[in-house]
Amino acid sequence: MVRLGFHVSISGGVDKAVDRARAMGCDVFQIFSRNPRVWRSKPLLPEVADGFRLRFRESGLSLAVDHMPYLPNLASPKEDVYLKSIDVLAEELVRCHALSIPYLVTHLGSHLGAGLEQGSMRIAGALENAFLAADDDVMLLLENTAGTRNSMGGRFEDLAAIIDALGQKSRRVGVCLDTCHLFASGYELRDSQGLQVTLECFESTIGLERLKLVHLNDCRGGLGSHLDRHEHIGLGQIGEKGFRALLCHPLIRELPMIMETPVDDRRDDLGNLRAARKMAELC
Ligand code: ZN
Ligand code: MN
Ligand code: MN
Repeated sequence: MVRLGFHVSISGGVDKAVDRARAMGCDVFQIFSRNPRVWRSKPLLPEVADGFRLRFRESGLSLAVDHMPYLPNLASPKEDVYLKSIDVLAEELVRCHALSIPYLVTHLGSHLGAGLEQGSMRIAGALENAFLAADDDVMLLLENTAGTRNSMGGRFEDLAAIIDALGQKSRRVGVCLDTCHLFASGYELRDSQGLQVTLECFESTIGLERLKLVHLNDCRGGLGSHLDRHEHIGLGQIGEKGFRALLCHPLIRELPMIMETPVDDRRDDLGNLRAARKMAELC
């Protein structure tokens, strides 16, 4: 059985997200543990955290993951932003621990022109610092990006450089692959041969044992367009053939998959869930 789900709203409190995910028919789900558009977070009250853990345990859902807020830039060459970003990362790891959430997904930010090598060193330093402030039971998942100008993590080599720089501490790090970002940054996914080549590249640069989560999104932009525009499953440039290959791949289909697809007059979340489940059944 494939494990599929969505990014779910926490409006009304984090504990409400569990019921929402169940009502949507998810097996797995992702949240922002707090408002993602501001730097400061309200403290997570122990009774709210307990409520989340209890509801999750009773829900039968297989996994909850947390996503870092939007403002932090772990690669920033600007000292004030960099230090604030480390604080938020540490806070978020602590919140995951309190919620018994095993994975925190993070974007890698932008080097703002300082260069990829500088950026990698900044990120590795930020991770090391944040790890000092948090328990080691939460794994940080580095998400690949569409490779837009100055952004970090568009190529597997970028992720590998950060992981290598962490040395021993890299045991606290895994990878989340976003299929839209992958395709937009130039990795072929439109059929099983293309997927195979992409996964072999991942294996030789990073190692498939690092891959813990998939963000399952189709893409509006073409191969290598660097356009980060998500599309409904099978209706974008990756297409139905590509998603059949992904959902039927023996390694990929074992991983939890979170959709971050749009909601519009063509399809809602349920429509994407149905489409993905149907493809996964016809392997
Ligand atoms: Zn993300
Ligand atoms: Mn994503
Ligand atoms: Mn995106």
